[in-house]
Amino acid sequence: MFRQTKRRTAGRRNFEDVASYADASASVYPSRLSFYDAPPLEEITLEEFESWAIDRLKILIEIESCLVRSKALRDIEAIVKPLLLKFLPLTPSSGAVSDAAIMAERRKDYYSHYTLRLVFCRTDELRKKFIKNESTLFKIRYNMLQPREQQEFVALYTGKLAWEYISKEEKLDKCDDLYAASGATIKTVLTVEQAGDPNFSLTAEQLKLHIRTKETFIRLPFEKVPNLVALRQVYMSQGYAYIPSMLQVSLLAGVFSEQLAHALLKTFQAIPRLEEDDRLLPLLNNLSKSFANVQYDNFGDLANASDINAISISTTQINKHYPLCASHLQRNMKHNSHLKYEGRQQFGLFLKGIGLNVDEALKFWQHEFTKNAKMNVDTFNKEYKYNIRHIYGLEGGRINYKPYDCNTILLKRRPQKGEYHGCPYRDMPLDSLVSSLGEMGIKDQHDINGIVEDVNRNEYTIACTKVFEITHKQQMERSTKPENLHITHPNLYFDRSRQLERNEAKPVVAGTG
Ligand code: SF4
Repeated sequence: MFRQTKRRTAGRRNFEDVASYADASASVYPSRLSFYDAPPLEEITLEEFESWAIDRLKILIEIESCLVRSKALRDIEAIVKPLLLKFLPLTPSSGAVSDAAIMAERRKDYYSHYTLRLVFCRTDELRKKFIKNESTLFKIRYNMLQPREQQEFVALYTGKLAWEYISKEEKLDKCDDLYAASGATIKTVLTVEQAGDPNFSLTAEQLKLHIRTKETFIRLPFEKVPNLVALRQVYMSQGYAYIPSMLQVSLLAGVFSEQLAHALLKTFQAIPRLEEDDRLLPLLNNLSKSFANVQYDNFGDLANASDINAISISTTQINKHYPLCASHLQRNMKHNSHLKYEGRQQFGLFLKGIGLNVDEALKFWQHEFTKNAKMNVDTFNKEYKYNIRHIYGLEGGRINYKPYDCNTILLKRRPQKGEYHGCPYRDMPLDSLVSSLGEMGIKDQHDINGIVEDVNRNEYTIACTKVFEITHKQQMERSTKPENLHITHPNLYFDRSRQLERNEAKPVVAGTG
């Protein structure tokens, strides 16, 4: 994939011969799904190396967040599929899309996986996390394949899997035995899939019909599936176990995880030889810090910020969209008519991100700092005006600073007495946190316990995401386009919350039919 020597410009011609690239790629990437069992050998640019890995990371972060929140695979699929289409699409082969475009998608998928192996092979904890998330991604993608593609995929790895699809005739012949052994499992899965339909029920005859007409079974040596055999979930005959389709994906994911665990250890052992390369290491180090920190930089959708001004940001209409870090800062600033430097930076940048312009920001801060006569306007202008203008890039180095993301906030010094910056899920005493949750309307003990558990596991952004989901549950259920993103940025929290409200406010267009 990359050289260990520092030859930087030769080999560019490899990018130029697109036709031969498409031909070569077809043999390297024969399927939309892969066990990634041979490292890629083509050259890619450093930009591709980094940006492809970041795109994959965005998906893995969502999966990680869903798994920690104990979401079922079906729910994770609903959340991750739109992201896959956006960041890592894998189009099925058809006449509609060119072979070169399809191969380019597969190539990106392949390289991004291998790049992240380099990033997440370094500690046991990172390896486990990566395996768990990649295995879930593998399951989602397997379920997205057409049945024909699933069979082609299995055929492709027949040496590794020792699987064999049984014929239709054999299935009909053994239908009663297959029903007796696996009927209950199949019924459970079908019932879960229809959970939204209260009228769904399945008689024994309907279940048999499903097995006869829709179910596909594989046969493999029984010693490959000792757990299923022990649980008596599969039919056994002449040394073979017969596995229904819903159990096949877990088996495949098990093989995938095992192979990936082995490969990650080998990659880790090879890292010292890579560490001579001064181009890749900084990129890899940056990516490894990014697991909980894919940047959100969609700030200042100013078309939607026309109602943000010095007055409105103190109203419930706007405050109700703040994440806990921002409301904690605002509440204490109002209470003390003051905020220390770190708090001013964090809150000032957040307000800038939601669309408060510099003139309105100066009005707001001046009003709050001078409202109880502890400070006069002259003192404010002398001591704080510069700071506010600096946040907007109008003083000093004139840098257009971005609002802090959660990771930046969590990396900064913890607040001392009289300071209110930081992330309340980490920095607030537990009893204050629970009472703040109550103020946000979270009263259910089960919900509170779940959030506190996340906090105790140091999963602060997960706790925040959970709070968002609980406090916006009904809006998210009503939304036709629910965005179920993991919260990695206070401004993402604010923007998602407002977007949900806006969706509700949109007039329903009456049907014409
Ligand atoms: Fe703010 Fe992020 Fe903490 Fe949520 S997780 S309170 S958005 S810093």
